[in-house]
Amino acid sequence: YDLRNEDLKELQELGQGNGGSVKKVRHVPTGKIMAKKIVLIDAKPSVRKQILRELQIMHDCHSDYIISFFGAFLSDPNICICMEFMDKGSLDGIYKRIGAIDIEVVGRVALAVLEGLTYLYDVHRIIHRDIKPSNILCNSSGQIKICDFGVSGELINSIADTFVGTSTYMSPERIQGAQYTVKSDVWSLGISLIELALGRFPFSEDDASDSDLSDLEDLEGTLSPQRPGSLLGIPGPSLRRKEKSEKTNKKDKRKSKGVSLQGGGMTMSILELLQHIVNESAPRLTPEGRFPKEAENFVDSCLLKDPDERPTPKDLLNHSWIEQSRNSPVDLEAWANSF
Ligand code: ATP
Ligand code: MG
Repeated sequence: YDLRNEDLKELQELGQGNGGSVKKVRHVPTGKIMAKKIVLIDAKPSVRKQILRELQIMHDCHSDYIISFFGAFLSDPNICICMEFMDKGSLDGIYKRIGAIDIEVVGRVALAVLEGLTYLYDVHRIIHRDIKPSNILCNSSGQIKICDFGVSGELINSIADTFVGTSTYMSPERIQGAQYTVKSDVWSLGISLIELALGRFPFSEDDASDSDLSDLEDLEGTLSPQRPGSLLGIPGPSLRRKEKSEKTNKKDKRKSKGVSLQGGGMTMSILELLQHIVNESAPRLTPEGRFPKEAENFVDSCLLKDPDERPTPKDLLNHSWIEQSRNSPVDLEAWANSF
């Protein structure tokens, strides 16, 4: 496809994220339906061109578990990325509509994400960096695919410079400033799977003990501003202001209006949440006995806090729960058409 903005007819708004918005469009010359992601980039023309070049790698990504790429172009001041349209949307939207997702389906989601991550890493040495339910998409053929992976280092940097992140699927080692590895994606997968199986984000207000707030300095320095790709760039000054106000308003923290995270009744501030991830034990698939032992064990291995102990996506493809999911009779097409 030779994509030009004037050839794309906007049909519907599909959603908005931190970095931009996504629209369902028709490519008029061919009739092809696509999803167009519009990312506002505040960067020099040379950087934008660099981003566009880097995005071209996506033309070489071919997997049943990765969203297809149709092309990207500059449309000042935005970068537009055109990709395969998934008519059932993302898994966050799905579970918010239909409730907790059946564990057999969650097993297939795990399988699809691991296959996608393994493909990206083994074939292209790409680490996804943003695994979460809104980046796992589903269509009415019952396919599950991942999108929004970190192909472009320049794009990652530009977004980090521009937006305040609420990246709550982030692994403990990433919060503490370590390099991204494929194992950080495995952590994010573990959090996402619990969210889908429980129908709510696993870090809830109840999980946060007051001791969480006792020593906010712990994270000072590790939350240093503008490390490229780290924490999506929470700006230093406002972060420090936030810390201070949290300390003085310790009793009022639940009511604090600062950076707070919505969803599933959760009202932890981003700092509390990051602190919690680093200091407390990882969430689990609970209550015990509700889910198959293999699923519990799988999630526990994804959420090993020490990345040296945590398996890679490729290791996990051999996990017994994944083998089971591969052979499970669950009909994803029927499932996807049931809502
Ligand atoms: P964040 O910006 O924090 O990553 P996000 O993933 O929700 O959040 P976007 O990537 O901008 O933000 O996507 C917005 C929404 O658009 C998604 O939640 C998803 O429901 C929808 N969407 C994205 N890509 C597609 C696609 N290819 N087909 C169908 N719907 C899509
Ligand atoms: Mg997304």
